[in-house]
Amino acid sequence: MRSGLLSNSMEEDGVISAIIPQVSVVVPIKDEVESLPHLLEAIATILTESGLTYEIICVDDGSSDGSAQYLKTQAEIRSDLKAVILRRNYGQTAAMAAGFNYAIGKAVVTLDADLQNDPADIPMLLAKLEEGYDLVSGWRKQRQDAALTRLLPSKIANWLIRRITSVHIHDYGCSLKAYRAELVADMNLYGELHRFLPALAYIEGARITEMPVRHHARRFGQSKYGLSRTFRVLMDLFTIAFMKKFLTRPMHVFGLWGMVSILSGGAIGIYLTWVKIIFHEDIGNRPLLILAVLLLVTGVQLFCFGLLAELLMRTYHESQGRPIYRVREVVAKKTE
Ligand code: UDP
Ligand code: MG
Repeated sequence: MRSGLLSNSMEEDGVISAIIPQVSVVVPIKDEVESLPHLLEAIATILTESGLTYEIICVDDGSSDGSAQYLKTQAEIRSDLKAVILRRNYGQTAAMAAGFNYAIGKAVVTLDADLQNDPADIPMLLAKLEEGYDLVSGWRKQRQDAALTRLLPSKIANWLIRRITSVHIHDYGCSLKAYRAELVADMNLYGELHRFLPALAYIEGARITEMPVRHHARRFGQSKYGLSRTFRVLMDLFTIAFMKKFLTRPMHVFGLWGMVSILSGGAIGIYLTWVKIIFHEDIGNRPLLILAVLLLVTGVQLFCFGLLAELLMRTYHESQGRPIYRVREVVAKKTE
């Protein structure tokens, strides 16, 4: 099952491989009408040349420049294109999640619509996937974006993400990535989480690698993001850091710190009581008393919060039938 990801032998999979394309290319689109004809052309050409069966899933994320209209007319005449038109603008992450939902290929490749990523790199990423990886991430080694507002924040963000997620790749923000379809099906996306897909994949136990890819300056339109993105990315980073460590055992964090807080508050309280009883000192106006009360209250709250988180975590896993582990493969001797 793992090897032969892209082999489309009819004997192996029977009729199914005739319907399931080898690759689904997912493209989130917000106001990119000028780029679209070039993009579709480039993807179709390179994948046909490489002898791969494919589908292109263009997700229109509330464009107002006629992108949706263009996609609809194209999807009616081309058999390799599926146009998914969202009702309004939900953001790149949601657009990608929508694309994943409609993708049926054995591998899924994502890329930007603005021609900054080069479709010509797709076969190379797929070949790498074939070697046994679950996710191959593009690395924009020579990135063509503004230095101060884009490259610098991105360098810092990448460093932080690398430290926190322990997934060691250079460029998390690069949209050009290739995934095994099973991996994509396992991941839930929220917020600006698409750049943390490698980290989420790591939580799911994926084998991850990266490859340098080409990157071009924007030819048409303009970027949808500015500096404000950095803040949102940072907030998402906290979520990820927490999920990675404590998704299945929140009580280990909250319980521990709740305990520490309660014990130190209790110790201070005992000390104050002792001072009061033995030395008959007035403890009513001592800052330590406030500290003791604060520690005790905080401790109890942390503790209860941990218990609540445990309940939530169980609901999260059980309501979706999500096991707390991911199986790579099962091997057993066949009985005749
Ligand atoms: N995009 C989207 N919804 C949004 C913003 C952006 O689908 O709300 C798409 C956009 O059309 C492009 C990709 O996400 O295909 C990346 O956007 P952009 O090129 O503006 O980001 P940058 O490359 O500057 O980081
Ligand atoms: Mg771009």
